[in-house]
Amino acid sequence: MKLIRDPKKLQQILQKERARGKSVGFIPTMGALHEGHLSLVRASSRENDVTVVSIFVNPTQFGLNEDFSKYPRVLRTDIKMLRTLKADYLFCPSVSAMYPEGYATFVDVSPRLANVLCGKFRPGHFRGVATVVVKLLNITGPCRLYLGAKDFQQVTVISQLVRDLNMKTQVRVMPTVREKDGLAMSSRNRFLSPGERDRALTISRVLFACKKNLLREKMGFVASRRRALSELKRSVERVQYFEIVDPRTLAPVKKYQEKMAVLTACFVGKTRLIDNVIIRNSDK
Ligand code: AMP
Repeated sequence: MKLIRDPKKLQQILQKERARGKSVGFIPTMGALHEGHLSLVRASSRENDVTVVSIFVNPTQFGLNEDFSKYPRVLRTDIKMLRTLKADYLFCPSVSAMYPEGYATFVDVSPRLANVLCGKFRPGHFRGVATVVVKLLNITGPCRLYLGAKDFQQVTVISQLVRDLNMKTQVRVMPTVREKDGLAMSSRNRFLSPGERDRALTISRVLFACKKNLLREKMGFVASRRRALSELKRSVERVQYFEIVDPRTLAPVKKYQEKMAVLTACFVGKTRLIDNVIIRNSDK
């Protein structure tokens, strides 16, 4: 695996790979890798000739009071993990290489997608995500882009962006990888104390219970959501949102439809965690 820091250099290398007829798979990450990230790398190596992983803690997607400076940075361990897999290139640009002085261009995402759910509590977050993803896609030019369903709103925003901007990349969404007890893997889980980790388990438990209730159609949407919220509030410090939405439009769903997403964001201690479950008609 080759470590590359210079965007231009990677762009040139990958141009050559594509000219030789190689397909490129790309996995953008912020590092502090875990099995969730690795599942994306494995999927890419199965489906492409060349796999590129990026590790870049993108400042433009963090708000002023958020954890940009505290976000875990463990590059050496990440490299070791990636070396055990079939990743061909690791791209770790500096902030100044991505946003040099005078940088002036940002991707504006419709408020309908960017100012709801996580976006309501993280103003500017999806503008930063969309901007860095467009930059990374222009640098890497992949056939396939791998995203985890864990960051569901991100998947919706990026899928829409790829469609809207006529990008040629195929978006491949991989299932959320969980710990044995159900906790969704996250780089931020390392911040949880043992007691907080126990309480964080409520998040996946409540999501799966809500899914079960909705599938059985024994409990209506309002009652399912109310029960989930009250259970969550007993275990976590703060529930930012708990919503049942249409996966493509992110608009709240009030009655049963073919595909739905149940999403939540909660603070356990000082750590903000997100999780979701998807409900399909075929789950019935
Ligand atoms: P991050 O490093 O948090 O920006 O995540 C990089 C990519 O890994 C995103 O597409 C995430 O959705 C994905 N990812 C993070 N956690 C998981 C997980 N538990 N299961 C599957 N994919 C994940």
